[in-house]
Formats: sequence, structure tokens, C-alpha cells
Amino acid sequence: MLRKTCTRCDKRSFSSDASNRWICPYCQKDLTHVLAEPSEMRCRRWPLRVFKLIRSRNS
Ligand SMILES: [Zn+2]
Repeated sequence: MLRKTCTRCDKRSFSSDASNRWICPYCQKDLTHVLAEPSEMRCRRWPLRVFKLIRSRNS
């Protein structure tokens, strides 16, 4: 999932695809050219998972 923060109303919207047109669901501003960031939920889980995988392989 990707996340964009609206430059007008400052609310966050989520999408799995940043290549499509991205309209703020709250104020309808066009956010297509705003930089998308990875969603926090997965961003925090992934590095830990990968780290554990590497550890279990080495030991
Ligand atoms: Zn907005």
C-alpha cells in the first residue's frame, strides 16, 4: 500500500497503485504529482521479518 498526504486538507489517502490518477477522497484535490510513501503499517513490519529470516539462516 502507498500513502499520500493531501497538500490542501492534510489528510492521508491510501492506494495500492500510484501510477493512476490520485484524487484526495476528502477534498477532491488532484494528488497525482504528490510523492507517494510506503504505508506505515507494512513499513514497520517488513524490516523485522527480513532480519529474522537472515538470522535463522546464519545460525
Ligand atoms: Zn484533501
